Amino acid sequence: MKIQGLTPKIYAPLLALHLAVLIVVPARVLSWSYVFVIATLLFTLFLSGRRLRMSVTHNRPLWALLTLALIAQLAAFGLLLADSWVNPEGTLVAFDPTLYFCLNSLLLTIAAVYSPIGPLRRWASIMDGLLALAIAGLFYALLHRLIGAGTSNVSVASFLIWMFDAMALFVAACATLRFAATKRADERRFYFVLLIFAWTELIFPAIHNRFVLTSESYVPELFIDLPFVVLGLLLSRRRTVWVRWYRPSRRARVVVGSISPFVLSLALCLLAFVQFGHNAGLAIVALVLGITSYAVRVAVMLGHHLYMESELKHLQRGLKQRIIHDDLTRLLNRRGFYRTFQREWERASTLSLPLAVAMVDIDMFKAFNDTYGHLAGDDCLAAVARALQKETSLHAGVTVARYGGEEFAVLFSGRDRMAVEHVLQRLRSRVEALQIQNRRSPYGVVTASAGVAARGDGEHAGKEKLLDAADKALYAAKHAGRNCIRWFVPDISLVEFGKHG
Ligand code: GH3
Ligand code: MG
Ligand code: MG
Repeated sequence: MKIQGLTPKIYAPLLALHLAVLIVVPARVLSWSYVFVIATLLFTLFLSGRRLRMSVTHNRPLWALLTLALIAQLAAFGLLLADSWVNPEGTLVAFDPTLYFCLNSLLLTIAAVYSPIGPLRRWASIMDGLLALAIAGLFYALLHRLIGAGTSNVSVASFLIWMFDAMALFVAACATLRFAATKRADERRFYFVLLIFAWTELIFPAIHNRFVLTSESYVPELFIDLPFVVLGLLLSRRRTVWVRWYRPSRRARVVVGSISPFVLSLALCLLAFVQFGHNAGLAIVALVLGITSYAVRVAVMLGHHLYMESELKHLQRGLKQRIIHDDLTRLLNRRGFYRTFQREWERASTLSLPLAVAMVDIDMFKAFNDTYGHLAGDDCLAAVARALQKETSLHAGVTVARYGGEEFAVLFSGRDRMAVEHVLQRLRSRVEALQIQNRRSPYGVVTASAGVAARGDGEHAGKEKLLDAADKALYAAKHAGRNCIRWFVPDISLVEFGKHG
């Protein structure tokens, strides 16, 4: 039979027998009661060990902590059994088990703050572990002193119960915060189990302890079994459907992430205040530890965040550059060109400056690729781009970009027609001067043609129209035999200048 089906069938008779014993009240009823608590706990321990064996490596410490916490409780109930055997009348709380209950809380708190991923998180986990140790130590010192004062006094006993509740509430709060902030599905499964177990460990023992103070009946002893039964039922479940509905939002993770470092330090400081009247030295040490641990944590986190912020800014700058540049030629790409074009267009409109755009296209490039291969084509493109870049960098207000394929766009802002013609001629002759062989070209080498259009003559009302005009002029340059430059002139046909060859 599958363990999921078997588990309720084991817990049900254990609970029924336990209840029967509590109703019948045989001799040494408390001892018998602890026998059933231990039997229930042992089966839960078996399920926890089973889950530990089945868990993935990085979650194993978490399940191991839960199993160890159960072992600590087993030791506590073993001592309670021994105590009740020696003293059948029953004591409210024996001294020795308190140590193991504190140990149980410590282990569960460490599990709630443990984080295996990331160097900073690991570092923070170690610090949290030490804080949890200090908290459990203070709790123990406090309980030890109270029990030493005698539990027959009802006010001491009820204060003791409140202390136990506070300890359980602290563990439950840690588990809840952690569950609320955990994103990974496998970790969420663990923290869900821990969350439910921590709350049942708060609620059921709290009810039990209050009945013990006020009632003669032994039936409330059954409440001690219930956290283990709930935990066992959760551990035996194969599927995790019951945690899938919750996924922490980014905001929830940020809020919880900023609260959680505060919780342990705050708990330590509060405990220090409770200790003040009894052991001022210890209280001051705890207070200093609580405050400095928080300060150190905040400082480390802040440093880490500042470092991350500068890294992100650096990456963002790199990305911004990458999206406007072309990988092969390192020139501005079409997106980068449009940005500059838009900016210069607005500037030219405001200041009434001349603006011209040229389309420069490598001649017979398909034939080049077919003859020498695509890789040689890439090298040629990069060489032409370098030549264009070198020349344009010598002239103010001239920007070159790879418009697409073997086509380049050159923007002339604030340059008159003469200057534009001059620069374009230099660009064309620079490409020719590279002397890259292209035996399929009538010139024998790689050449480029250009079409250029200027804004301001009333015909190119928009940016797209200006680009379109430059493209038409390029088309004319190709028709005119390539390796030449053409101006786009409205109505009149295309004006030729500087025809080469
Ligand atoms: P034209 O003189 O009329 O411009 O002729 P063309 O062969 O240069 O023009 P066409 O538009 O027919 O061919 C352009 C070629 O450019 C086709 C394509 O294979 C090549 N090309 C475009 N981008 C790249 C690139 O990034 N690398 C390489 N190697 N070739 C490219
Ligand atoms: Mg071409
Ligand atoms: Mg082309």
